[in-house]
Order: sequence, then C-alpha cells, then structure tokens
Amino acid sequence: MTNDALVKTSVTLLGLGAMGAALARAWLAAGHPLTVWNRTPARAAALAAEGARVADSAAAAVAAHSLVVVCLLDDASVEEVLAGTELEGKDLVNLTTSTPAQARTRAAWARERGARYLDGGVMAVPPMIGVPEAGGYVFYSGSRELFERHRETLGVPAGTTYVGEDAGFAALHDVALLSAMYGMFAGVAHAFALIRKEDIDPASLAPLLADWLVAMAPSVHRTAEQLRTGDYTKGVASNLAMQVAGTPTFLSTAEQQGVSPELLGPYFALMRRRLAEGSGEEDLTGVVDLLVR
Ligand code: NDP
Repeated sequence: MTNDALVKTSVTLLGLGAMGAALARAWLAAGHPLTVWNRTPARAAALAAEGARVADSAAAAVAAHSLVVVCLLDDASVEEVLAGTELEGKDLVNLTTSTPAQARTRAAWARERGARYLDGGVMAVPPMIGVPEAGGYVFYSGSRELFERHRETLGVPAGTTYVGEDAGFAALHDVALLSAMYGMFAGVAHAFALIRKEDIDPASLAPLLADWLVAMAPSVHRTAEQLRTGDYTKGVASNLAMQVAGTPTFLSTAEQQGVSPELLGPYFALMRRRLAEGSGEEDLTGVVDLLVR
C-alpha cells in the first residue's frame, strides 16, 4: 500500500458504463483505493488491471467502503442494483441522471435505509472526466455535511458545485442548463437550414455563429436581474415591441429559403402573447412567466 492509499478515501463505485469507467480511472489515477462492481463483469476486468478491486456482487461492493458512488443508466437501475445491499451507515452519492422528483424520492429512500445521501448531476462527457482543464463539473445537492466530508474525493474526477440541501436541486440545475443548450441547438439548426441550399460554406458561417452566441450569452445576467426585481424594463437594449415587429422578417426569410418555422414559430408566438398581455417596453423576460403554469 502506498502512502497515498493510506490517506486517500476509499471509494466503492457501482456502474462502469462510459461515465462510470471514466470516474473509476480518475480515482485510480489519483491513488484512491477503489472497489468496483458492474452488472456485466467484463467491463470491470480492464479496471482490475489498472488497480481496482472487483467485487463479485453489488452487496459486496457496498460492504467494502463507507463512501458508495453510483453511476448507472437511470433511477430504475439504481433501485434494482441497491435493492439487495446493506446501506445502513453508508455515504451514498448518486451520479445517475434523474429528475428532481426521482432524486428527492431516492434521498428519502436512502434515509429510510440509514444512509446519508447526496445527488449529483454530471455536467461533463466522459473524456472531460479527470481532465481539470476541460472544465467539467458535477452539481451536488442533498446533505451538505456529506458534501463537505467528501468534497476532496468528489473533486477528483471533475469540479464540484453544491447547490443546496434539497436533493432535487442538482438534477434541476442539470436539466435547466441542458434545456438551455437544446434551445441553442435549435437556433443553430435553424440558422444552418437557412443557408443550406445557398452557395455558403457552413464552415464559414460556423465561427460567425459561435462568436454571436458567445456575445449574446451574457444577456442571461440581465434576465436574472429582471426576474429578481420584477422590473422587466430595466436595462433593456432591444424592447419587446421592436422585436415582435421584426418577427415577420424572420418568418418570411424562412419561407423564402424553404425552411420550416417549427423551431422559431413557438417562441415568436410566446413573444407576441407577452406583448399582448404586457408592455412593449419590456425585455423578453416576460416569456418566462408565460411558460410557468
Ligand atoms: P452507459 O450506458 O455507458 O452505462 C450504463 C451503466 O448502467 C452500465 O454500467 C450498465 O451496466 C448499467 N446498467 C444499466 N441498467 C442496469 C440494470 N438494470 N442493472 C444494473 N446495471 C445497469 O451510460 P453512462 O455511463 O454514459 O451514463 C451513466 C449515467 O451518467 C447516466 O445516468 C447518464 O445520464 C449520466 N451521464 C452520462 C454522460 C455521458 O456523456 N455519457 C454525461 C452526463 C451524465 P452494463 O455494463 O451491465 O450494461
């Protein structure tokens, strides 16, 4: 045993898919004693060669150490895998993507079994794990005490961002960020569709598009400030009335280019509805309230 192994927290990891295997390698590389289990044993074999101890059952893996990290496909697989294990006194960290409601239910489920619980939402893809400069991180929520206790160990594979005692908040932050990402992807798809049949190289549009999205991104801070204060007219650069007046240009251009308005159309409809109900001097922030049912 090395000196590192004497001081570094031992970790049990259940689930060696793409993400689980990347987590395992990061902990092994940092000298953490690691016990792994995976439903399909072959996936554990490569990690054994890299220094992991392979348990022959989930129950044995859970019994091995007090810190138990789970990274499985979904909440149903977490239920299935942990069902036959003894969780009393364990520190359970669940990095499986779930909904906020599933995370809250899983936290209560763990508490009933005598375990402390922390939920995680991974904001990284496997190649970013164990590569600090890649900028990946994990949202954590649930027991703050548990987070503080294992902060260093949890910080080995990726950065850590604790977002509150409510076990559902990590999942909620995860889904909020990814939802915004899909909105961005939708806009990008529309932009490329507009030039698709023209003599414009998509590769020449790409850097313009990327720079524009980066330039627009800080507007989220103004939106947040407006939502906080309730004043949607504060700091407005391009007001709602002007932007709604511009929407026919976007829709006509789409039509002329033979591009479906099905991505942009619903957002424009919300902008028009807000203009009808609110003030033309506002920002686009009122759309948030139209979405909240
Ligand atoms: P994979 O599909 O690569 O691996 C899934 C893992 O879950 C495998 O270990 C698989 O075991 C196991 N599993 C699935 N069903 C069961 C079951 N019923 N019983 C026991 N084990 C089961 O997924 P990832 O590793 O990529 O993802 C794991 C989690 O990480 C997911 O919740 C995902 O959303 C999240 N995540 C993944 C990211 C990514 O880019 N990959 C990014 C951010 C989060 P077996 O090997 O036997 O099939």
